[in-house]
Amino acid sequence: MWNECEQRWYYSYVEELKPIRKRVLALEKGNYIHELLHYYYSFLRSGYSIGDHIIIDSITSRIAADLQEAEDPDYAFYADVSKTVIEFIKTQSPIIDQGITDLEVESHLEYEYDGRSFHGYADLIYRDSEGRLRVRDHKSGQRNTYDQRFVERVEQLLFYGTLYWKITGEVAQVEISFLHSKIPKNPKPGVVSFGLFTASHTETAYESYWNYLTQIHERQKSSQIMRNYGACNYCAYYDLCRADLRGYSSENIKRANYNGPMDKQDPGRTDTSGKGFTLNLRRRADRVGDS
Ligand code: SF4
Repeated sequence: MWNECEQRWYYSYVEELKPIRKRVLALEKGNYIHELLHYYYSFLRSGYSIGDHIIIDSITSRIAADLQEAEDPDYAFYADVSKTVIEFIKTQSPIIDQGITDLEVESHLEYEYDGRSFHGYADLIYRDSEGRLRVRDHKSGQRNTYDQRFVERVEQLLFYGTLYWKITGEVAQVEISFLHSKIPKNPKPGVVSFGLFTASHTETAYESYWNYLTQIHERQKSSQIMRNYGACNYCAYYDLCRADLRGYSSENIKRANYNGPMDKQDPGRTDTSGKGFTLNLRRRADRVGDS
C-alpha cells in the first residue's frame, strides 16, 4: 500500500482508519466468524481438547442465543456462520491444531519507538507440535484468494511478525487460516472450504522490514508523506484525503465514515466545515463499495 500511495498507507496503518462500508453483511459475517473463532481458541487455551463436544455445544448455544436476541434475524446468516465454524472445528482444526500450546488469543502486539506506538492485533499466537512459534490471522470469505505466495508477501503478516520479533526477540512463522463463509452443500471441484498457508520469514527479513518502518516514521516526522493522485480512483480514503487537502476539519468525516481509535462518543458530529464537508460525504457515499 505504501508504494501505491503513502497518504493512503498513513490513513490505514498509522491512523488505523477502516472504512464503514455499505456491504456490512459480508463484513459482519467475517466479524462474527472471527468472534466465534476467538471463543473457540479460548476454550483450547483453557485446556479443552480440539473438537470437544462441550465447545461445539457452547458455540451452538451461543449462536442460538444471538439469533434470539437479533431484532430482525437473518436466519441464513446464522446458518451459514454456524456451518462454517462447526465444520472448521470438526474437520479443519483437528488437522491444523494438533499439539498446539502456549496459545494467545487476539493478542495485542505493541512496540514503542521514538514516541510512536507500532501495534496490531494478532488473532492467534501459538507453538505448533514441533515447538515453532506461529502468528495466525483468520480470514473468511466466499472464495479463497490466498496461497503461499500471498502469505509470503502480505504486509500485514510481515508487520505482525516484525512486531513480535521486536518485542520478544523470537522469529515467528506467519500464516493465514482461511474459512469459507458460505460452505456450499455440494461444493464444485476447486472450491476450498478451509486452508492454511504459512510463511517462514528470517530474522533478516524482519530486521529489514523494521528498518523500512523506521524510515517511514522519519519521513512522517519531517512531513514528507506523498500523495499519489494516480491511485485515487478506487481509494477508500478519498473523502478524507480531499477534506485534508482543502483544509477542512476531517474529524467529522472520520467519525461518520470510518471505524478507528477516535472517540465515537464525542458529540461534535455537526459539520463545522461548511459545504465542502457535505459534498465530500456524498462523494464518499457514491464510492462506497468500489474499493
Ligand atoms: S485519495 Fe488518492 S492521494 Fe488521497 S490517499 Fe487516496 S490514493 Fe492517496
